[in-house]
Amino acid sequence: MASSAAPDSPVRQRIVIENCAIATVDGEDTEYTAGHVVVADQVIESVGAGPAPEALANVVRRVDGTGHLLTPGLVNTHHHFYQWITRGLATDHNLFNWLVALYPTWARIDEEMLAAATRGSLAMMVRGGVTTASDHHYVFPDGAGDLVGAELRAAAEVGARITLARGSMDRSEKDGGLPPDFAVETTEGALLATEEALDRYHDASFGSKVHIAVAPCSPFSVSTELLRQGAELARRKGVRLHTHGSETVEEEKFCHELFGMGPTDYFRSTGWLGEDVWMAHCVHMTDEDVTAFAATGTGVAHCPSSNARLAAGIARVPDMLRAGVPVGLGVDGTASNESGELHTELRNALLVNRLGPHREAALTARQALRLGTLGGARVLGREAELGSVEVGKLADLVLWKLDGLGHSTIADPVAALVFGAAAPVTLSLVGGEPVVERGRLTGVDEDEVARAARTQARRLARIAAGG
Ligand code: ZN
Repeated sequence: MASSAAPDSPVRQRIVIENCAIATVDGEDTEYTAGHVVVADQVIESVGAGPAPEALANVVRRVDGTGHLLTPGLVNTHHHFYQWITRGLATDHNLFNWLVALYPTWARIDEEMLAAATRGSLAMMVRGGVTTASDHHYVFPDGAGDLVGAELRAAAEVGARITLARGSMDRSEKDGGLPPDFAVETTEGALLATEEALDRYHDASFGSKVHIAVAPCSPFSVSTELLRQGAELARRKGVRLHTHGSETVEEEKFCHELFGMGPTDYFRSTGWLGEDVWMAHCVHMTDEDVTAFAATGTGVAHCPSSNARLAAGIARVPDMLRAGVPVGLGVDGTASNESGELHTELRNALLVNRLGPHREAALTARQALRLGTLGGARVLGREAELGSVEVGKLADLVLWKLDGLGHSTIADPVAALVFGAAAPVTLSLVGGEPVVERGRLTGVDEDEVARAARTQARRLARIAAGG
């Protein structure tokens, strides 16, 4: 049955999308085999079976979605955009020796490099159906300029919503940490710069394009004090907290040796469990850890490809979901997931989790789609605004082409999207504005983005080599 909302103010323009299958990812998993969506300015005005109501005023565009599936835009909950210019390096490493190999290069980035890497990372994701993306940026070399501003300006060109998690590192080798001494900030410097980014850029309004979160990098690269004061800062400002947690057995060993407890207990002791917190990975979790996450509402960014690339292990996503832990999907940085796409993570989440103890009952295709949409929105604190196709939510919508070579013989459109090859995006809207049209980005030139990223990747490699 169709539902619709009475607009509070006159609608300036409407977009009608019809004749497509629709997976709404609402509370009842409502789907339509042939339905419609009406977009009124930046929000969804109606969704339902059959054609759109006739006699709508101010319709500026009608889209025939025949052969397509319409879903909410995908939400990426963990990434490191800067890594777009250091892909394909240290390819046979685990997390710790991969980090040690790459820190010296990463510590040389500047505004120009980060801007090019941001365009590359976001262009790749947006072309594949992402409409909201979080970036965890924690490398701030001395004298590198306004990296947060450079990233946000580049991101705005591509057009997705951003949660920029302002990261930091202050525990270097001399303090028992993993990063080299030259790659870290001081505790005070990191906190001040994070607060400045919050004050300057965080926008909490409905339909915001920019959220800022507080995001010390990981237990093995930040001090206990930075975690404690970071949590205090985030709560004083009413913003979210993000970090890496329980990624590898090496991290678990590190926490036991330095703090006398596992990562989850350490996070609890520093104020880092709560419904305003989400953590990347959470691979090595005990039953008690899963219960603690569920009881506190702490969210998880599940990154199956990165976890496989770095041989980290398989996160217990089915157990987390059954316990009620909020879970979204993440690409993770593209130095540990060179594909840089999120729609392929729907498939990888499903496949990787079926290799675990729950086997074929681990995840369904619809659960995978939910992780990549509403699950991600919840993890980023935006489930009231986006993540499902429901009246009153932002019109962040993707129209996937499923009648081509890759998918035309799979009758169930959600199975086609999740199990099949990466589906082409015919149209993607962010707040009703097209960011992809017929597979091409509208905000930036894809070839130009690729060229500029390659130039900056070479420049970084040259500088890192001492040239
Ligand atoms: Zn990461």
